[in-house]
Amino acid sequence: MQIFHDRSLREWNTFGMKVSCSCFVEYSSVEELKELWHGLHDFPSPFLHIGRGSNILFTKDFPGTIFHSGIRFIEVMPHPEAEAAPIPDRETDEVQVEVGAGVTWDDFCGWCADRNLWGPENLSGIPGETGAAAVQNIGAYGVEAKDIIRYVKCLDCVTGSMVTFKTSECRYGYRESMFKTSAKGRYIVTSVIFALSRTSGPRLDYGHVREAVETAVAGKDGRHDAEECTCGTDRQALTPALVRDVILSVRDSKLPDPAVIGSAGSFFKNPVVPRSDYERIASIARIEHGEDFVVPHYDAGSGFIKVPAAWLIEQCGWKGHIEGNAGVYGKQPLVLTNATGNASPDEIIALENRIADSVMRKFGIALSPEVEHV
Ligand SMILES: Cc1cc2nc3c(=O)[nH]c(=O)nc-3n(C[C@H](O)[C@H](O)[C@H](O)COP(=O)(O)OP(=O)(O)OC[C@H]3O[C@@H](n4cnc5c(N)ncnc54)[C@H](O)[C@@H]3O)c2cc1C
Repeated sequence: MQIFHDRSLREWNTFGMKVSCSCFVEYSSVEELKELWHGLHDFPSPFLHIGRGSNILFTKDFPGTIFHSGIRFIEVMPHPEAEAAPIPDRETDEVQVEVGAGVTWDDFCGWCADRNLWGPENLSGIPGETGAAAVQNIGAYGVEAKDIIRYVKCLDCVTGSMVTFKTSECRYGYRESMFKTSAKGRYIVTSVIFALSRTSGPRLDYGHVREAVETAVAGKDGRHDAEECTCGTDRQALTPALVRDVILSVRDSKLPDPAVIGSAGSFFKNPVVPRSDYERIASIARIEHGEDFVVPHYDAGSGFIKVPAAWLIEQCGWKGHIEGNAGVYGKQPLVLTNATGNASPDEIIALENRIADSVMRKFGIALSPEVEHV
């Protein structure tokens, strides 16, 4: 266990805010975490558990103790059937793997791809750690963490005992879980058990993923005819590693690398609005873009429509805008950046407010942040 006092958090938030905390503790096992729980009164409050701070905007110095998991292991679990009646050399399709909360998420994605295991390949390249992935229900390119999570193991900070939740008990929704909402602060995720597949194959029906994968397969195999192939039928050519590589390069072309430009990814949630609000947005857009213009949208069910926040922000003229040290990423206006590396929390918050105000003025839509303000 490592304990630091008055520690800079610059390396612990991908926005690169120059803030600090009174105390920072990294533990490396469940036993150490339990020890900490028993001696919690020795540490300054308030308490916060973080991963890599890639979904957090620190708005000021943190006055208490920040905990971080150094539980790092990836372990294939014995298959329940194999335990009951061992069958030599039998290859079952599902492979359950337990992953420590402190494992870098993308390292786990790479581990799976190296072993030809399907599951997290579309989630490749998302910053942060595995524990937080289960808290956030991370998602990208048509896949969410909940799709492959079977169990989440946690320390219950109220009772001090370990609990294991089934996926169905975690109340997962879009970038939501009970760990972020009703049970926020109560559970510390120590490991996550994923169900991977040796055979299930790729999920390509999102945006331009299929097209990008087909192009990659064509590049690898001269015989491949992208016109005819739907890649759902030409499964032999596809591997988790190939899909992972495609996803990584698509992400590289659209999102800033936190090691180069500070950000916390998508800053605002995509608003889900009643149809009447959508019709109002559409009529405003038709005045500017012509009668045939269709505002990008997705049916969210029950008469509600999801409108991409990035589009609303772009329509208000923010794309690529820089204000002092804070900016709006030129390739993806949903991402606010620490444009010069010297932005203060106040500069990011001022920009956030100005963007939200302008969207409200132009479209009457309230944007709410996806990034957690601490
Ligand atoms: C460039 C960029 C691109 C991104 N792209 C995506 C994307 O495509 N899809 C997506 O879903 N997200 C994306 N994100 C957001 C972010 O990477 C994810 O939300 C990620 O899961 C956060 O992981 P973290 O380890 O940094 O967690 P943190 O930001 O440190 O913490 C997130 C939350 O989890 C809690 N927490 C952390 N660890 C634990 C634990 N062990 N037990 C209990 N609670 C814990 C924290 O208290 C906090 O509430 C992106 C971010 C960036 C910077």
